[in-house]
Amino acid sequence: MKFLRLSRFGWDYVSGKKIQGVGLILTRRCNLSCKYCKIKDNASGKRELSVAQWKKAVDNFAKNGHRHFIFTGGEPMLYSGLSELMDYTSKKALTSLITNASYLDDQTFPGLKNLDFLTFSRDSLGKDGTFEKDALPRLELISRWCRKLKITPSAIITVTSKNVKEVPDIVRKIDRYGISILLSYIHSSGEDSYEFRNHVPELEFRTRSDFQDLAAFQETMLRMKRDGFRIAESDNFIRNMINFAQGRYRLKCPATDPFFTVDVDGRIKPCHDIPASGVSALDFQDYFKMKHEVSKCIPAGCNCYYDCYFNSQDGFKNLLFQLLHR
Ligand code: SF4
Ligand code: SF4
Repeated sequence: MKFLRLSRFGWDYVSGKKIQGVGLILTRRCNLSCKYCKIKDNASGKRELSVAQWKKAVDNFAKNGHRHFIFTGGEPMLYSGLSELMDYTSKKALTSLITNASYLDDQTFPGLKNLDFLTFSRDSLGKDGTFEKDALPRLELISRWCRKLKITPSAIITVTSKNVKEVPDIVRKIDRYGISILLSYIHSSGEDSYEFRNHVPELEFRTRSDFQDLAAFQETMLRMKRDGFRIAESDNFIRNMINFAQGRYRLKCPATDPFFTVDVDGRIKPCHDIPASGVSALDFQDYFKMKHEVSKCIPAGCNCYYDCYFNSQDGFKNLLFQLLHR
C-alpha cells in the first residue's frame, strides 16, 4: 500500500461511508468466456474511447470530487493505453484494476507501477470447462510484484453451486501468499435487463441441497475468518448470502450515490450491470443534473449482491482490514 498516496487521496475514499469511485469499462473485449458473464463483446473495439478521451472523463469526475478510479472490462489489460491512462489518473486519485490475471507477467507488471489496488479473479479448477479463470500458477508472481510496487492485491472468487465445496481450499491456497480474498456470489434474476450477470440456473443456488451447501459454506467462511484467514468480506455479507439466494435480502443500492460506471464508449451508467444513460462522461457540465439523469436508468426494484456495493457502507472497516493484513 502506498501510504503517502493514501494520505493524499484516501480520506475521501474511506471517510464518506459511500463508494466514491468511478468504474471505467475500458473495453468489453475478453480472452475468456465465463458462463455467468454477458459483458464480453469482442467487437467493442470499434466503440472504445482513446486514451485522450478517457483522460477527459477522469478530469470531469475528479473535478467533482471523485478520488478513486477502477479500471475494468471485459479484460482491461487488453486496452493498449492502460499504462498511460493509469499514470495520468494516479496523479489525481487512487487507482484500482480488476483483471482475470491472464496477462499479468514479468513484462506487464512494470506498466502497473502507479496502481494502488489490484483485484484478480480466481475461480474453480472445474474440469468441465465451465470455469476458465485460474490465477493459481501466478500467485507467487502476483505476490512478488505487488510487494515490489507496493500494490495492495486481492483475489475475488465467484462462488457457485458447482464450486462451493472447493472454495475453502482455494482460499487457503491464496492466503498462503498473503493475499486477501473477496467473494463474488453468482446471481441472476432470469430477466434480460442486466449487462453483466448471465442467467445460468445450473450454477445458482436453487435447490434444498444447494442451500444446505451454502449454509455450510457460510459457517466455514466465518470460522476461517476467526482463524485469521484473510477473508475481506464482512460477517454480514457472508451471513446474508443465503438470505439473498432465498429472496430475503434487498440491497441498499449505492449506484449514483455517488458511485458511477463509464461504459466503453463514454456513456455513464449507474453501475456495470445496468444499461448506459445518454449522458457522456467526456462533456457533462452540471454534475447534479448528470447524476439525476443517470439515476433514472436504475430499474425499479433493482437488486444485486455484488460485494463492493454491499460493503460500500464499510469503507473505513475495509481500509483497516487492508492495512492490518499487509
Ligand atoms: S467475467 Fe471477466 S474474465 Fe469472465 S468473460 Fe466476463 S469479463 Fe471476461
Ligand atoms: S441494485 Fe444498484 S448496484 Fe445493484 S445492479 Fe441495481 S443499480 Fe446496480
